[in-house]
Amino acid sequence: MSLWGARCGKPARRVLRGEGGTRGSPRPPSTQLGLEFGQMFRRFGSRVTIVQRAGQLLPREDPDVADEITKILREDEVDVLLNAAATRVEGGVNGGLTLTVTTAGAADRQLVGSHLLVAAGRIPNTDDLNLEAAGVRTDRAGYVPVDCRLGTNIPGIYAVGDVKGGPAFTHVSYDDSRVLKANLLNGGGATIDGRLVPYTVFTDPQLGRVGLSESEARQQRREVRVFKMPMHSIARAVELDEARGFIKAVVDAATDKILGCAVLGIEGGELMSMLQLAIAAEIPFTGVRDMIFAHPTLAEGLNTLFEED
Ligand SMILES: Cc1cc2nc3c(=O)[nH]c(=O)nc-3n(C[C@H](O)[C@H](O)[C@H](O)COP(=O)(O)OP(=O)(O)OC[C@H]3O[C@@H](n4cnc5c(N)ncnc54)[C@H](O)[C@@H]3O)c2cc1C
Repeated sequence: MSLWGARCGKPARRVLRGEGGTRGSPRPPSTQLGLEFGQMFRRFGSRVTIVQRAGQLLPREDPDVADEITKILREDEVDVLLNAAATRVEGGVNGGLTLTVTTAGAADRQLVGSHLLVAAGRIPNTDDLNLEAAGVRTDRAGYVPVDCRLGTNIPGIYAVGDVKGGPAFTHVSYDDSRVLKANLLNGGGATIDGRLVPYTVFTDPQLGRVGLSESEARQQRREVRVFKMPMHSIARAVELDEARGFIKAVVDAATDKILGCAVLGIEGGELMSMLQLAIAAEIPFTGVRDMIFAHPTLAEGLNTLFEED
């Protein structure tokens, strides 16, 4: 039991269970929320254990990215259990609880805690909307299928945001509203097809992600080059005293175009967005490498990232 947690009146021990989202990609990984909340409560003073059924945190990310974020959390004294299934939860004395965790090849273990955060995915609240009355169709999971202009099966009825399924992020909902506004009010022909959806895991440091991961690119049998650089190679990160993590970019070997990146590091979401702009503008990695960025900024790390031996 954490003395500090107890003294601050915070739960002395929280047991967090995170499992990856189940449908679509990049669905808002519930494991992402588990990491963000887990690290936050640890920093509030609670003892935290993350129980992850998969063999790595953030199962959709490259293994090196997941390993690094696991390392960072463990440095923050968050316990991380991998390949571990939460199989039973029981209330205990004084409002506590006991979580039984099963790991292949090992005896079950009991985690005793004061709180349990279940980050095991989200479902749309469409069951009580009586959509049948309007004839609006939902899929088996309760999402409202839409076309590329966000139209449902009923002309004149649209669905935006989480309820339509697919990537569930605030910026997606916002962009949906832009598409709808352009089409309904301004007579445009906006679609959601081909939309490049970035996301950021708000751990500290953050993980900013956009485009293809290395694993996805290789699954697609693309010829790629992978550029990777530790954050401690960036002067600004060292000066800010948070030099953990790395930047990794996946580049098409034939065209030099950037296909995706993972920025696990301080302000990773902001650095990722710079590369997102390069992807959208089809600036080759050499263009970013040879661009002059102000010193000392995190951005100038992009010069070094793309240096070739
Ligand atoms: C803990 C957590 C952290 C998150 N962090 C991030 C993040 O860092 N970045 C990010 O991009 N996304 C994040 N998300 C996801 C993000 O919150 C959602 O993708 C986003 O809010 C979806 O917007 P929306 O408008 O589609 O739905 P919502 O924001 O859920 O809005 C739906 C609204 O409809 C209302 N409503 C529901 N049923 C009815 C009804 N019958 N009648 C009237 N009103 C109704 C609800 O009250 C709600 O106000 C997070 C989600 C969670 C749960």
